[in-house]
Amino acid sequence: MSIVGSTTEELLGQLASGDVSCVELTSAYLDQIAARDPEVQAFLRYDRDDALRQAERIDAKRQSGQPLGKLAGLPVAVKDNMCTKGQPTTCASRMLEDFVPPYDAHVVTRLKEADAVLMGRANLDEFAMGSSTENSAFQVTRNPHNAEFAPGGSSGGSAAAVGAGMTPLALGSDTGGSIRQPASFCGVVGMKPTYGRVSRYGLVAFASSLDQIGPLAGDVTGTARLLEVIAGHDARDSTCVDLPVPEYTQSLNEPLSGLTIGIAAEHFAEGLDPEVESTVRSALDVYTSLGATVKEISLPHSRYAVATYYVVAPCEASSNLARYDGVHYGFRAESFENMIDMYATTRGEGFGDEVKRRIMVGTYALSAGYYDAYYLKALKVRRLIREDFDRAFADVDVIASPVTPTPAFKIGSLVDDPLAMYLQDLYTLSANLAGIPGISIPAGTSSGGLPIGLQLLAPAFEEERLLRAARMFEQESE
Ligand code: GLN
Repeated sequence: MSIVGSTTEELLGQLASGDVSCVELTSAYLDQIAARDPEVQAFLRYDRDDALRQAERIDAKRQSGQPLGKLAGLPVAVKDNMCTKGQPTTCASRMLEDFVPPYDAHVVTRLKEADAVLMGRANLDEFAMGSSTENSAFQVTRNPHNAEFAPGGSSGGSAAAVGAGMTPLALGSDTGGSIRQPASFCGVVGMKPTYGRVSRYGLVAFASSLDQIGPLAGDVTGTARLLEVIAGHDARDSTCVDLPVPEYTQSLNEPLSGLTIGIAAEHFAEGLDPEVESTVRSALDVYTSLGATVKEISLPHSRYAVATYYVVAPCEASSNLARYDGVHYGFRAESFENMIDMYATTRGEGFGDEVKRRIMVGTYALSAGYYDAYYLKALKVRRLIREDFDRAFADVDVIASPVTPTPAFKIGSLVDDPLAMYLQDLYTLSANLAGIPGISIPAGTSSGGLPIGLQLLAPAFEEERLLRAARMFEQESE
């Protein structure tokens, strides 16, 4: 069986039985990167020798009979906004082009402890702001299914790397859909865990009340396995909850009996592409044939999600990004007249247009006189959005919806129209505002040959239910 294209469980089986070594497996993926990445451009950096050295260490550990971690020998790509000690972490920004963190993000430590191979650094929209990976200061990632189309964003590099078979697993971050939307566009599985499920220690902050790290994989089982490794308490992130982490992979194949799926009319609104709609409705038919019940629910405030998010997220971003002043980190402008000019010129040259737009919107909305009208109001609406979910989940186990209003769009087609780009996030933002988990699983293909995903949402800390529900559907389409 060929290595590239195997599932994570197949790969783990081959490694455990000795059919392939970690070095052989890693080389196969590195060869795939060499073949595909010149076109796809998913990786900002990867180091063949370093990856093979890690693989040799894991092979040696296995040979010596030492116990191995849960990802023993599996390559993982990491979005370039999670710190890795001694290696650049750029956030795809000129501002952090030369930033080398002195410590590992919690998730990176977990990957190392699980004996994963860190394959390289995945491209993203600058500071994770965007839905197409076109906002990267360094390169535009392309959809592995058709290079004229965007891979989605901001974790476009992570999703495209998995979609192109360049790595079986990847980490992304999701502040408003940045794992689920690119997963949907690239035909892979991507999950945003509950806010507080995975430590963000070492994740470069964008909007701290929304940011969450999550797994991407070719299938639900790989997603569950990677989540198992990264989830759980870490005292260094005060929002990270101290709850036991279930063994997601153990319960995954047990179908949920008596599953009730909610669908909201608000998720099938004007502007929804007919092929996306029919894909979601056919997925619901699959669930009904498996004994699930579909029930209408209402999420009346979800229509305000885009407006709410695009106040809250920029406000938090403007505060978080204040630290990039030419003194603390990375980039500093070469010529300036005085200190104030140094700050202004550094920020003017170091940040790209979208990041500047967010900082300006956020600073405006937080300023005296506008704070109540915009920021405080947005927080109140956010609460209403969460309460809609609380009410809905009293009646249903999971909610099914489209991930995005359309399949992948062409590179260049939305990048000059911020509002159209923001509307990409229509169906994903609410989960971040409410803090609940969401998953995108491949559910169909458009007539243009592009993947279409199905989104499932569950109540907070019900990742196990979400993964089992996702696996039920996946099993039917195998
Ligand atoms: N597309 C959204 C934004 O631009 C979400 C980004 C994200 O989840 N990181 O803010």
